[in-house]
Amino acid sequence: MSLDFDVFVVDPKPIPSAVPGFEEAVGPATWPPSTSTLISDERGALLVDCLITEQEGRELAAWVKSHHREPGYVYITHPHADHFLGLPEILAAFPQARPVALAESIPAMEEQISPGFMQVWGGFFPGQLTAKPVPPAALAGTTVPVGGSAATVIPVGATDTGHSSVVHVPGLSLVVSGDAVYNQTHMWLRGSTPDSRASWARALDTVAALEADTLIAGHRNPRAADDDARRQISDCRRYLADFEAALDRSSAPAELIDRMTAAHPDLANPYTLWVAAYDLLGSRT
Ligand SMILES: [Zn+2]
Repeated sequence: MSLDFDVFVVDPKPIPSAVPGFEEAVGPATWPPSTSTLISDERGALLVDCLITEQEGRELAAWVKSHHREPGYVYITHPHADHFLGLPEILAAFPQARPVALAESIPAMEEQISPGFMQVWGGFFPGQLTAKPVPPAALAGTTVPVGGSAATVIPVGATDTGHSSVVHVPGLSLVVSGDAVYNQTHMWLRGSTPDSRASWARALDTVAALEADTLIAGHRNPRAADDDARRQISDCRRYLADFEAALDRSSAPAELIDRMTAAHPDLANPYTLWVAAYDLLGSRT
């Protein structure tokens, strides 16, 4: 069995800015760079997460076809629509593929594709999203077939949203992390609380305990040095700790932004940090 994996990468894409002064200070607001991972052998394949716009879904489907492997399953790691609105295009190209996710994550996924939420997502990507979003079905058990073997799904609790999970492929010493681990990209902390940030730190411990060598993050800086699992987990631990300390010492968004930018100057998608700062510290300047 030649078990293998490959990663489809999407660059940051422009979105309307909702925080004052961002465009003047930094440039166009962007959605974070994103990935989708194909794990396969000669007998079949598993696609992990599938992006957001219709065009991305189509390009991802064409990329999967170019591997000449048929995905039997599409696994969605967590209930954020930017990881599964591309599903209709994947299912159009691979009608036999079964979209699945943790059973406990399905209600939040259904909420993400409700008319109200679709209006919010449509505001970020006008005219670019499917009109017929599809939720995954509940995964029975904790493994997903990959051709002749299987990947293991590990629930990790709340990270940047509730009911997150990662996919572990021991045969490749690989973790596909969804949003549990970011690669050289600002972590989504809008709406976070001390509890949710502590839960995210515990999730990093859970991923570390898998002792994988390679980790493919759902949001990965196109200029990231590598996909080294230990380096990324350690970076994310430091980011969360620095954010907690900086938040504690800051009374206005600009202070938090300045502290985090000084500590983490080279991360992709600074807009993510600004959104969190204005959310958690109000619009004071
Ligand atoms: Zn995400």
